[in-house]
This record gives sequence, structure tokens and C-alpha cells, in this order.
Amino acid sequence: MIEAARAGLPHDILLDEIIPARAAWDHAAQRGETLRIFDMEGNQAVDFLLYAADDDSERYSAQDTIAAQQNIFLRTGSVLMSNEGRPMARIAATTVAYHDTIGGACSCESNTLRYGHHTKSQHACVDNFLLANARHGRSKRDIVANINWFMNVPVEADGTLGIVDGISAPGLYVDLEFLMDVVIVISNCPQINNPCNGFNPTPVRVLIASGAGSRP
Ligand SMILES: [Zn+2]
Repeated sequence: MIEAARAGLPHDILLDEIIPARAAWDHAAQRGETLRIFDMEGNQAVDFLLYAADDDSERYSAQDTIAAQQNIFLRTGSVLMSNEGRPMARIAATTVAYHDTIGGACSCESNTLRYGHHTKSQHACVDNFLLANARHGRSKRDIVANINWFMNVPVEADGTLGIVDGISAPGLYVDLEFLMDVVIVISNCPQINNPCNGFNPTPVRVLIASGAGSRP
């Protein structure tokens, strides 16, 4: 019997790792490979950036992705576009209704503004992005608007944004099929001041398979 975390993926698994709670992670992946992000304990936001492997001035663009698909939410079939208008990856499958790409990444600065000065020393996604990007020679100016897998940011009729209780659950996942060679940068979100992680950051599992992932 195939383990739930691998169900639907090709059998040739190139990588299978746990990203600890609050940690940064980065990895290179090739065109045609599939990344699965598996929410082990549920309601864990996974902040995510993508850079072209050949030239990292080309990177994920929330604006181009939203404009291309004429929708703000990421669902099965969504194509992640670069700032040069090229497709970088496609959501081959996801068991979560939708994912966010407008809520941004948490930082010490935004935490202090929103939740008070006592949060200044708390670890944040921007710290993780800086750490992971530094390994590739990138800096603050290379951090752009990101994806928040598993994060629920509903938009009200008047345009108001909320960061509310998650719609993910233990064992839900997203499969991304890469359409170019990329470098993946992840912050397993450490936020404890709003419900995006259920006030309890937890580990997530990442798997990379050679070849396309499951199809709904
Ligand atoms: Zn965060």
C-alpha cells in the first residue's frame, strides 16, 4: 500500500524531507519534476518564492499570475507566471480549495506594527527568505510578493482582506509541476499572532518526483 503522502506521485521520488516548524528551505528542481508540499498537521502556511535557475532576475510574479488567470486565488490548473510572462510551474493537483498569493510574507516590521512591540524579536518569514536566498547570492531586493500555500485570505465584497482560520487540514497537499528549471525558496511560516498557522507552527513534508504528478 502506498503511503498517503506519496499517493498519486510517480514512484521515482528524488527527494523526501521534513521542513521543521519555523524553518527556511531551498532546493533546485528541473523542468518536468513535480514538487508536493504536504501539510502534515494542518493549517500550516507555507510561504513560497520561485526563481529561474538560469537567470534569477526572472522570478515568480504574483501580478503576472493574477493577470494571466484573471483570478486572485490559486487552484488546480493555475499556472505560476514569471515577471517575464513565462510559465514557471502549474498546479497539477491540490486537495485544498484555493491558495493565497496576495497576503504577503510576515516580517518583524509588520508584526510590530500589527501586534505590538513585544513581537519584534519573533522569527518571521522575511528572515527565512533572506537566509535561504543568501545561499544563492540574493538579498532583500530579490524578495517579491510570494505565494502562501494553505493560507486562507478571503476577499470580501468591498475588497477587504482577512487572514482567518485555515481551510487546510492534516494530510492535504499541493502538487506543482515545473515548466522550467527553478530554485524553490520556502519559509515554513513561524507566525504565532494570527490564525494562519492555527497559532501553532508545525512541520511540513516536501517530496520531489521525476515526471508529472497526479491528475484529478
Ligand atoms: Zn509568515
